[in-house]
Amino acid sequence: MFEAVSENGIAAQAVNKGALSLTLWNPRDFTEDRHRSVDDRPYGGGAGMVMKPEPLARALDAARARGENDQPVIYLSPQGERLDQRLLAELAALPALILLAGRYEGIDQRIVESRVQREISIGDYVLAGGELAAMVLIEGMARLLPGVLGNAQSARQDSFSDYDSDSGSQPKPLLDCPHYTRPEIFEGRAVPSVLMSGDHAAIRRWRTMQALGRTDQRRPDLLAGRELSREQTDLLKAYQWEQDHE
Ligand code: SAM
Repeated sequence: MFEAVSENGIAAQAVNKGALSLTLWNPRDFTEDRHRSVDDRPYGGGAGMVMKPEPLARALDAARARGENDQPVIYLSPQGERLDQRLLAELAALPALILLAGRYEGIDQRIVESRVQREISIGDYVLAGGELAAMVLIEGMARLLPGVLGNAQSARQDSFSDYDSDSGSQPKPLLDCPHYTRPEIFEGRAVPSVLMSGDHAAIRRWRTMQALGRTDQRRPDLLAGRELSREQTDLLKAYQWEQDHE
């Protein structure tokens, strides 16, 4: 499954550029029985299986011993803190981390207690396994590593990523503006003329206006409690006026 990120896309590019290194640990390689079992029936009965603690403990200890730093173990779990761009940036800044993917009904709780530092969920829904969730983290972190994206500015313009230049690195979540490429007219729809004007200040204002307007329309929760500058307030009003008079 992990070839999806180790051999394709931005995470693979990060690996090729030496910005990221991925090691895969299969708990089955740390079993001692003939069947290489990693799961067993749950104590107390009930449906489903539970991942056994011994292979996980050995795999995690081996992964930790291999690392040079005291990297945290992060268990992907629907019960963990919810992943967002801010958390991705925090994790991407760590020198190393270990991602633990569960299967079945989850992992034996004693592993969580003895070896997991953090639990992270990618959303309020349940997947069959933590691998895809781990890959979401890997790809999200890879594109934030220095030198991975061709244009560092593009990551800063993304939704949830606009950084306030006054307060340094504090992310202020806002949705991204719409994007256009050639042709100039597609199925009778023209690219907004301001984007072709060459007037960089006007283009910046238009993009900020769109980002603010979209966020207000689609995710008003992101604007609640956010202090807008005078220019931003005027741009948001202009967006709303345009929408009302379209
Ligand atoms: N019984 C668990 C519960 O209800 O909390 C769900 C287990 S789930 C079927 C199996 C594995 O998928 C979990 O151990 C976890 O690693 C992963 N998983 C499922 N949903 C996830 C989510 N939203 N975020 C992160 N990991 C998830």
